[in-house]
Amino acid sequence: MLIGDAVVIDRDGLDQLISSLAGRGYRVLGPVVRDGAISVGEVHGIADLPKGWHDTQAPGRYRLEQGDDPALFSWAVGQHSIKGDVFPSRLVVWRANVTDGTVELEETRDDTPPTALVGARPCELAALDVLGHVLSDAPGPDPVYRRRRAGFVVVVECATPSGTCFCASMGTGPASEEGFDLALSELLDGDGHRFVVRVGSDKGAEVLDGLPSRAATDSDLAARTALVEHAASNMGRHLDTNDLPALLARNLEHPRWDDVAERCLACGNCTLVCPTCFCATVEDTTDIDGAVVRQRLWASCFDLAHSFMSGGGPVRSSAKSRYRQWMTHKLSTWWDQFDASGCVGCGRCITWCPVGIDITEEAAAIRAGDGNVRSEAQRVGA
Ligand code: SF4
Ligand code: SF4
Repeated sequence: MLIGDAVVIDRDGLDQLISSLAGRGYRVLGPVVRDGAISVGEVHGIADLPKGWHDTQAPGRYRLEQGDDPALFSWAVGQHSIKGDVFPSRLVVWRANVTDGTVELEETRDDTPPTALVGARPCELAALDVLGHVLSDAPGPDPVYRRRRAGFVVVVECATPSGTCFCASMGTGPASEEGFDLALSELLDGDGHRFVVRVGSDKGAEVLDGLPSRAATDSDLAARTALVEHAASNMGRHLDTNDLPALLARNLEHPRWDDVAERCLACGNCTLVCPTCFCATVEDTTDIDGAVVRQRLWASCFDLAHSFMSGGGPVRSSAKSRYRQWMTHKLSTWWDQFDASGCVGCGRCITWCPVGIDITEEAAAIRAGDGNVRSEAQRVGA
């Protein structure tokens, strides 16, 4: 098998793929149903995958229901992303014990086996790369991210985007063209339940060589193309990205920020579910035995303390300034920092916002008022 080759495997083949990755020493993570949502967990075979589960998503709304069909990947992303594994929400950085005036420092080590991610969506893969700009490419790379990000990736292209997905607008899905070891497309039609598998790396080719498969026919490949084209034209949301970074940068005083501030609870849910938000803080705790633990915790730009400046209080004291910071960072200033978008269009921040604030709707409203704000600014300036 070579990079670029396409074959077809059946359900047993997928089961064997998972076993084969586990046999190579990988900790295999994939989609599982947990707490009424699609989550990320250890999988040992296809019996652990969300067979027959389908989601309905809308701003502030998520429902998961099981049908009697055999589809394994007929859902869009849930609130948990792989970020929770590669960038844990709570991580012990070091411990220290103080005994008889002597400090003994114990550095923690991540001994997690290398990860194989099975069933990652294309937007999820794109989000991992976005996180990598911060956690891996930076001068002080995060060893936990590096250890857990490396491994093996089996991406599964999307056939059923949710009502809040807009990866097609961001160029991150529903098809996947790079960054994977194997790319699967689930087909369920008159020719049976099967998976078109495309090879993306030598590692992927080597694993696939050991599995029962047949060459993909023109009809299989046409079905896969039709599947992703149908998904691309059935996105729940659309974001016009044309000139978006500059549009937001010149509209920092747009009245829409006041409008969103009246609805936003500043709860930070959007930052917690976002697969690319990377802010963290550190917390030191001591116990009565003299042990000290330093932990890294997720932080949110919606917290008042997040922009606290010594002697001056928080720089972003209003909900308006905090929402504006979050959204303009995702869609505008991220480009200045990392030459990339900070949003991959997964739609989580829309679904899991308790009041249904929709980043695509907010961006569209700012675009719609762009000319007015500029005319007003020009009028005042004149
Ligand atoms: S946009 Fe929604 S999820 Fe985000 S802080 Fe405001 S209310 Fe919470
Ligand atoms: S900003 Fe929203 S849609 Fe974009 S990547 Fe984050 S959670 Fe997903």
